[in-house]
Amino acid sequence: MKFDGLIIGGGLAGLVCAIRLAEAGQRCAIVSRGQSALHFSSGSLDLLSELPDGSPVESPLLALEALKQQAPEHPYSLMGAESVRHLACEAEALLARSHVQLHGSHRSNHLRITPLGTQRATWLSPSEVPVAPLPWKRVTVVGIAGFLDFQPELVAGSLREADIDAQTAELTLPSLDKLRNNPSEFRATNIARVLDNPEQLLLLIGELQTLAQNTDALFLPACLGIENNRSWQAISSALPCPLCLLPTLPPSVLGMRMYNQLRQRFQQLNGILLPGDAVLGAEVSGQRVTALFTRNHGDVPLRANNIILASGSFFSSGLEAKFDGIREPIFGLDIAAPPAREHWCAEDFFSPQPYLQAGVRVDASLRPSRHGQRFENLYAIGSVLAGFDPIRQGCGAGVCVISALHAAQQILETQEAAQ
Ligand SMILES: Cc1cc2nc3c(=O)[nH]c(=O)nc-3n(C[C@H](O)[C@H](O)[C@H](O)COP(=O)(O)OP(=O)(O)OC[C@H]3O[C@@H](n4cnc5c(N)ncnc54)[C@H](O)[C@@H]3O)c2cc1C
Repeated sequence: MKFDGLIIGGGLAGLVCAIRLAEAGQRCAIVSRGQSALHFSSGSLDLLSELPDGSPVESPLLALEALKQQAPEHPYSLMGAESVRHLACEAEALLARSHVQLHGSHRSNHLRITPLGTQRATWLSPSEVPVAPLPWKRVTVVGIAGFLDFQPELVAGSLREADIDAQTAELTLPSLDKLRNNPSEFRATNIARVLDNPEQLLLLIGELQTLAQNTDALFLPACLGIENNRSWQAISSALPCPLCLLPTLPPSVLGMRMYNQLRQRFQQLNGILLPGDAVLGAEVSGQRVTALFTRNHGDVPLRANNIILASGSFFSSGLEAKFDGIREPIFGLDIAAPPAREHWCAEDFFSPQPYLQAGVRVDASLRPSRHGQRFENLYAIGSVLAGFDPIRQGCGAGVCVISALHAAQQILETQEAAQ
């Protein structure tokens, strides 16, 4: 099988890169072993919310020069401020073309309300997610009886600290009894599969209409709309006050919806997705990757002009921590990581953890190397990259989509130059 581009990993980075290449007419395939970080994420995308020295960032694109001073190996610093600025706009346009409905802008971060009722700076959030400062005096936080992955009292407590008159209420929804009787099944995604059914939606609207009488807004756990936000729109138009959704503990409906929308966009562009398959090894000739071998295809090689490694970090086994070091398992790429194992973790659990910055070393065009020799047709993107702390710096999704678009741009420019 021969493609223009073969992408290893169908998470946020792999999908965005594959969509961009497919939009430019390239025949692409994604090989993806399993679920990605999106299935566990808040559904909000972070661009940059804190510099390494701890200073908060309001306007991510204005902070890139300071970031370069403090973290020259950060992927944004390698790609260059101008490219990051340009690609942040392009990312918003690509997400919109993929029907991912988000609010926010690269111009300035907004403060989303978290599942704990606190505030966190981010770049883009699903339209249903509430943003501080809240324009309401009275908010009712509605839980679902027996659903443990969302605690309305916690949210209400934090909102009260921010001077909101927050009260709690509970939905009973007897149609969920079957799930409720099995606590391990009573998860946001399974609830959404029930509530997205039009008949159940009417019952939900009925219960919410009663709760909406004495409040300025209702907050509900995000247990609606795995494919799109039509259920939320239908409920909103039937209520006398706004309805906001807060992400729950994983699995995440908002993250899965984004995955579904990006996957659909890629497939509509005739992209080929090979889910449940894993790249096990590669054939390399000189500085070029000439074939990939996967679990399901055995000896049948997958070939492509360009290979994009988007296999994620430790969470997705794109990186592996072994006794003798941190490694990238498919190609054995050069890694940047604290050399001694005892320096991988900081003792204080809440301080930045050095292992989070470990990853594949790349140059400005995102090409990795092995034993110091740069690959010509291999690119590494997303959370497999070294040099950033997605949690502390609040830049996880931003690094993924911007590196994905940067790699796509390198590939398209190289192809154009060769023609
Ligand atoms: C649990 C979690 C929650 C997060 N939440 C947020 C958030 O809310 N906001 C935010 O901005 N950032 C968040 N992040 C940061 C996150 O890293 C990025 O947002 C992003 O989703 C990561 O995308 P990725 O494509 O680089 O990697 P991943 O999403 O990890 O995807 C990698 C994919 O590659 C596949 N893969 C790995 N090895 C192989 C192989 N050999 N063959 C084939 N396939 C392979 C994996 O199965 C997986 O599907 C979160 C990270 C984690 C771990």
